[in-house]
Amino acid sequence: PVRVRFCPSPTGNPHVGLVRTALFNWAYARHHGGTFVFRVEDTDAARDSEESYEQLLDAMRWLGFDWDEGPAAFDDSGKGEGGPHAPYRQSQRMDIYQDVAQKLLDGGYAYHCYCTAEELEERREAARKAGKPSGYDGKCRAVTPEQKAAYEAEGRTSIVRFRMPDETITFTDLVRGELTFQPENVTDYGILRANGAPLYTLVNPVDDALMEITHVLRGEDLLSSTPRQIALYKALIELGVAKQVPAFGHLPYVMGEGNKKLSKRDPQSSLNLYRERGFLPEGLLNYLSLLGWSFSEDQDIFSIDEMVSKFEIEDVNANPARFDLKKCEAINADHIRQLDVKDFTERCAPWLRAPFAPWDEADFDQSVFDAIAPHAQSRLKVLSEITDNVDFLFLQEPVFDEASWTKAMGKGDPVALLTTARAKLETADWSSPESLKEAVLAAGEEHGLKLGKAQAPVRVATTGRTVGLPLFESLEILGKDRTLARIDAALK
Ligand code: GLU
Repeated sequence: PVRVRFCPSPTGNPHVGLVRTALFNWAYARHHGGTFVFRVEDTDAARDSEESYEQLLDAMRWLGFDWDEGPAAFDDSGKGEGGPHAPYRQSQRMDIYQDVAQKLLDGGYAYHCYCTAEELEERREAARKAGKPSGYDGKCRAVTPEQKAAYEAEGRTSIVRFRMPDETITFTDLVRGELTFQPENVTDYGILRANGAPLYTLVNPVDDALMEITHVLRGEDLLSSTPRQIALYKALIELGVAKQVPAFGHLPYVMGEGNKKLSKRDPQSSLNLYRERGFLPEGLLNYLSLLGWSFSEDQDIFSIDEMVSKFEIEDVNANPARFDLKKCEAINADHIRQLDVKDFTERCAPWLRAPFAPWDEADFDQSVFDAIAPHAQSRLKVLSEITDNVDFLFLQEPVFDEASWTKAMGKGDPVALLTTARAKLETADWSSPESLKEAVLAAGEEHGLKLGKAQAPVRVATTGRTVGLPLFESLEILGKDRTLARIDAALK
C-alpha cells in the first residue's frame, strides 16, 4: 500500500513550492487509495515557531489536503488526528532519535567526531586548493579509546557522524530515472549535534522508516541528501529498525522572475498572498499542479478530482517549471466563473466586510449584492476584486477625482452630455437595462458621441470609476433615484 508523507518545518509562512509538494503527495496518495501522512519537522527550536505550526494546519485545511495521520485533526470529524505512528511532531519524538543514534553508534555505523569547526574549514580549504572533493575526510573514523580520552581531556566536544560506505550509490528516481553518486562526493555527515540534538539528516529518514513511508516525493533541492539517506536506510534495515528503502521522486525547481529559482523571500511565493487576494483553493491548486505535471495536451483547466484521477508521479517532468502569475490568475478566473452563483456569493463575503470594504456595514444590503453578483462573477480574476466593483452600491457617495473625468471625457464636455443624459434617463423605463442604454445612446447622438464615449461620464458620475461592471445593469440595480441624484451632484 502507498504511504506518502508531507513533512514541512514550521518556519515562516507556507510558500507555493511547499504547497506544490503537498499537492503532489496528497494527489498521489488519493490516486492510489494510499495513506497521506502529515508530519511536522520541528526539531530546530531556533527556527521553528508555534505560530508557523498553526499556519501550516490552517493552510492545509484551506487547501483541502485532508491527511490520514497527523499531529492534529483535519476537521471537526476528528479525521487525521494521531495514527499508528504517533506522535507526528518530531519535537515529541526525541527519545526515538536518541535510541536510534545509539544503535548506529553501537553497530559501528556512526562515530564520534572531535574535529573542530576551524580544523574542518582548514582541511576543506586545502582540499579545494588541491582540486579535490571537499567533504569530510574521515579523520575521526578510527579514533582509539586513548585518543578519545585525550580529546575529551583537551575539552573538545564531539558530534556524531554517519559512516558512509565506500561504494557507489545508484537509485532510480521516479522523476529523473537512474542516478548515480560516487563515494568521494558523498562523505560522512553529522547526525547529532555536539549538544546531542538530532539533525534533519537523521530524523527525517528515521521517521520515514518507522512510519513505513513507501514513496518520498519532495523538491529537487533535497536531491543531494538522498544518497546519504539511502545509506542510512540500509544501516537501519541491518539494525532491524527499517523494513525497506522507499522510492524517491524529486520534483522540479519552480522558477520565478528572470528565470531565477522562486525563493521563499519572493513576495509572489507566499501562500498568504494568494489567500488575501482571494484565489480559490481549487484555482490555485489547478495552477500549481501544472508546475511539472500536465493533465492533457489541450486542457489546462480541471477540477482537483480530475487531477487525482490522472495523477502519476512518473508523468512529472524533470525540467524546471516556470511560475507565471498571469496564467495562475487566468486559471483562477475560470474557476470563479464555474462556481454556482450562490457559492460565488458566499465566497465573496469576507471582502464585503471590514477591513476590505470601504462602506459602513449598515449600508450593505445583501439583496442588492445578490442582484449584482452574477454580473461581477464573470469578470473577476480574484475574489478581492469584488470590493472595488460593487462599492458604488453601498457607499453613500461614489468617490471620483479629476483624473477620472479627464480620462472619461478627454477634451469633450461632460456637463452638456450629462445634462442631456439625465433628462433622458428621467423619462426612461427603469424596468430594463435596455431602455437605460437607449436613453444614453440617444443623449450621445445629440452631442455627436458614440455609446462608448457617451456612457463614460455617466459611469464616472454614478460609480466614481472609469471602468466597471456592465453600466446599464449597474444603474438598474443602483435605482433611478440614486442614479439621478449622483448625476445632479456631479453637475454641481
Ligand atoms: N522538513 C523538510 C523540509 O522542509 C522535509 C524534507 C523532505 O521532504 O525530506 O525541507
